[in-house]
Amino acid sequence: MRASIQRDCTSQAAFDPCVGASIRSALGSRRSRGTSMIIVMKRGATRASIDAVVSKLASIGSEGHVSEGQFRTVIGALGDRSTIHQVPWEAFEGVQRAVPVLDSFKFVSREFQPDDSVIEVRGIPIGRADEFVVVAGPCAVESRDQLFRTAEAVRRSGARVLRGDAFKPRTSPYSFQGLGEDALRLLDEARSAFDMPFVAEVLDPRHVALVSSYADILRVGTRNMSNYTLLQEVGRQPKPVQLKRGLTATIKEWLNAAEYIFKEGNHQVIMVERGIRTFETAARNTLDITAVPLLKRMSHLPVMVDPSHAGGRRHLVAPLARAAAAVGADGMMVDVHPEPDEAQVDGEQALLPEEFDELMQSVSAVAAALGRST
Ligand code: PEP
Ligand code: MN
Repeated sequence: MRASIQRDCTSQAAFDPCVGASIRSALGSRRSRGTSMIIVMKRGATRASIDAVVSKLASIGSEGHVSEGQFRTVIGALGDRSTIHQVPWEAFEGVQRAVPVLDSFKFVSREFQPDDSVIEVRGIPIGRADEFVVVAGPCAVESRDQLFRTAEAVRRSGARVLRGDAFKPRTSPYSFQGLGEDALRLLDEARSAFDMPFVAEVLDPRHVALVSSYADILRVGTRNMSNYTLLQEVGRQPKPVQLKRGLTATIKEWLNAAEYIFKEGNHQVIMVERGIRTFETAARNTLDITAVPLLKRMSHLPVMVDPSHAGGRRHLVAPLARAAAAVGADGMMVDVHPEPDEAQVDGEQALLPEEFDELMQSVSAVAAALGRST
């Protein structure tokens, strides 16, 4: 294991273990369980008016979680609901409105943060309205040759982030399970060789520190969206997290899973729609394209689409990818393999490098029509 996770309390915008600790203590106390209100400050509200709200909350035994957006500040009030509701917040200087929060997720909600979250990964902004970020690579790292051939090709075609898994969640325990730390070392080499950050899945809370010490983004896969111990563990390390939608999860359940990560102090969560299980068996899964605009309305988090795992068949990848760009996703993630017939995992949905190149051209055109560059 290369490095242990740093948990100091030097404040960073997107990863703040101290904020996580204060939220945990506020939500954990007997009085405050399940209660909250969001206090939205006016544009340009002064520091003194923000401090006055936070002091008032402290004086009634509650806590204020301050989130500074590009244009306005929002304060999450955590504490006893009835005490908080008795205060005439809208009469305070600089307060625009006070909104009771009824949903079980709070910090990931649009009410809590009106501005979009933008997550920077080695200078690549994920979640910006004028960018469509493409992640591509093999489903699993199988060898140095396979990884490097794929990385070189996807980079040349315009992908900005590399994917490649070291640990694979397989339906059969006898199937290829991934190369483990050897794969992470190869990804580390590929990152330098092709100047691409990489994302890798983490399956087990015991592997979070290991994957976090190598990868730029950790991914929680569909089978683990409801693994709350794993969500807490990735919430306690500083790297961004791609959170795939559970196979049968509703959008609210998915947002609650993101809230688990936020609550621990990690505010860098990227939602990935990868298809859900329905009565339809013609495709591997049913891509829920409606989830993208719904999430954009309900939450400030970036949203990506994985057309490969959604369709599960090579011929479906391009049309679903174009749909993702058209519906307003912030990016996509695509499986590519130089020899799909030889792939140890998911060969039937992997694109050949030349197919990926063609796909990039059509997706870029759709994204450009909506003012986004790839
Ligand atoms: C993957 O991206 O390789 C993967 C296993 O996806 P999912 O968790 O969506 O099945
Ligand atoms: Mn896969």
